[in-house]
This record gives sequence, C-alpha cells and structure tokens, in this order.
Amino acid sequence: AKSSGGNEVRLFESSMRERVSARVTMEGRLRRAIENGELLLHFQPQCHFADRRLVGAEALVRWQDGEQMIPPDQFIHLAEETGLIMPLGRWVIDSAVAQLAAWGKLGHHGLRMSINLSTRQFLRNAVDLEVLTAISRHGVGSASIELEVTESVLLNPEGTALRALHALREAGCRIALDDFGTGYSSLSYLQLLELDTLKIDKTFISSLGGAHNLRAGRNAAAIVTAMIVLGHRLGYEVVAEGVENVEQFNWLKAAGCEVCQGYYFSKPLPAASFEAAFLSGAPT
Ligand code: C2E
Ligand code: CA
Ligand code: CA
Ligand code: CA
Repeated sequence: AKSSGGNEVRLFESSMRERVSARVTMEGRLRRAIENGELLLHFQPQCHFADRRLVGAEALVRWQDGEQMIPPDQFIHLAEETGLIMPLGRWVIDSAVAQLAAWGKLGHHGLRMSINLSTRQFLRNAVDLEVLTAISRHGVGSASIELEVTESVLLNPEGTALRALHALREAGCRIALDDFGTGYSSLSYLQLLELDTLKIDKTFISSLGGAHNLRAGRNAAAIVTAMIVLGHRLGYEVVAEGVENVEQFNWLKAAGCEVCQGYYFSKPLPAASFEAAFLSGAPT
C-alpha cells in the first residue's frame, strides 16, 4: 500500500508537471499569437425583435492557430490569469472600433459595436482610456460603442472598475451587463451599476419551450419574464442571447424583449461574411 501510495504521488506530480508545462507552452503560444497578429474577430448580429432590423454586432475574438481556429473559451481564462488579457483586450478594442468605422465608410451608419471587457482588464489599467482613444482615433460616435461587462466587475477591490465604467458612460458609451442571471451575487449590483442594457444569458433562453423538460421550460419562462420586466422597470434595453429557433424568437418578442442575438439569425461571422449577409442591402 505504501509503495502504491508513492506511485500515486509520483503520478500526480508528473501529471502536474505536464499540466504546468502545457500551460507555459500555451502561454508562450498565446503571447506570440498576440504579437504576430494571429487573433481575429468574428461578428454576431444583433437585431430588433420587432422588425428584424440590424442593431449592430458583438465582436467575439478567435485565435487562428495555423489551420485550426481556437475558440475564446480555450484561451480567455489563461489570458486573464497571465495578464495577457491586457494586450489582447487592447487589440480587441481597437480592432472592433476600427471595423465599425470601416462599415461607416461603406455607408452603414447607426450600427452599434458591442465589445466584451474582462473584469481583469479593469485592474490597474486605464481601459476606459483605451476605449476612448480607439473611438477618437477611428472617428466613431461613442454612443455606437457598447461595453459588455459581467457583474464580477463589482468584485474589483480598488473600485477602479466603477470609476472606469462611469467615465465611459459619461463619455457617451453604452454599458451592458452580460450573462445576466448566472452570477452568484444578489441583485444588489443592479443598484450599483449604471447600465444601458441587460443581456439575458443563453442558458435561460435554451430552456425556453423545452419540450424535453416541461418543468425547466416553465421555470425558465417565469424567470425570463421577470428579467425582462425588471430590466424595463430599471429603464434598460433587454437583449436575449443564444436565441436559436423561431419558437424562442416568437416567445421573446411577445414577452417584450427588444434585441435578439443568436444562431437563429446567425453564428458569429468573419467581417467579410457579416458584410455579405447583413450589410449588402442599401446603406443605412
Ligand atoms: P459571451 O460574451 O457570453 O458571448 C456569447 C457566446 O455565445 C459566444 O461564444 C457566441 O458564439 C455564443 N452564441 C451566440 N449565439 C448562440 C446560440 O444561439 N447558441 C449557442 N449555443 N451559442 C451562441 P464564443 O464566441 O465562443 O465566446 C465565448 C465567451 O468568450 C464569450 O461569452 C466571452 O465571455 C468570451 N469572449 C469572447 N470574445 C471575447 C473578447 O474579445 N474579450 C473577452 N474578454 N472575452 C471574450
Ligand atoms: Ca458578451
Ligand atoms: Ca453570455
Ligand atoms: Ca461570458
């Protein structure tokens, strides 16, 4: 038993070593990817429920690693842990704002660009200045830029996040609360954040009309209804993310939700495909 325990320890140590070295390798690869311009943005349309008119797009980062496209779930967390989220986030902000400016030059005005900001980007970092610098460099209206944050920004101990969000909002940018309903804190953060948009998380949307699980479906319907009412009472626009089918679309439209995002309209697309699919009509 003693020797097998020793083996387990050695096995554990070696798998730890492998994991640590895999992480270090991954970190180096990500660092080079940022430096070498191997990141790119995909854009997912957001449309009004009422008339299906295009509101704008959410920018979602991808890592083009040779042939393979690595999704953000596989590197954002590492970027946050290593601090690489700072240069990565700066690149995302500048590229997304540049893309919106390019669409404006094509004649498509009045579109909105939603940009994800990780809570980590607020730490000892002038993320508000990065956004405002990109806005003035590319000459877009600040009201056309929406920053998506999660409620964990309030865990930021120095209070720098609230200050930065306030500055962004004062400058005319929109602030969206992402993944609404999935956090572990109470609703009290709604008292502390000044927002423009609530984004209902896709886990609630996917349970809507869940014929596979009637009770989950009924519960989700009650929860989503309450979220929409709450959002409206607070004066916010409500966005549903992860809308995949016409049943969910119709239900949310009837419930008074304003903006729809999800595979029902489109997956996130490279800029050229987004333009072909959503900006090919008459300029707006
Ligand atoms: P998120 O901000 O909640 O973004 C929505 C995610 O849901 C995206 O995944 C999108 O592709 C996916 N999605 C949209 N509609 C549907 C649908 O109808 N069905 C399903 N099943 N999924 C849908 P993606 O692009 O893989 O991004 C995952 C997460 O990575 C994002 O979640 C966000 O937290 C993070 N992320 C992505 N880009 C950035 C970025 O530029 N900066 C930061 N800090 N985080 C990012
Ligand atoms: Ca988001
Ligand atoms: Ca989300
Ligand atoms: Ca998220």
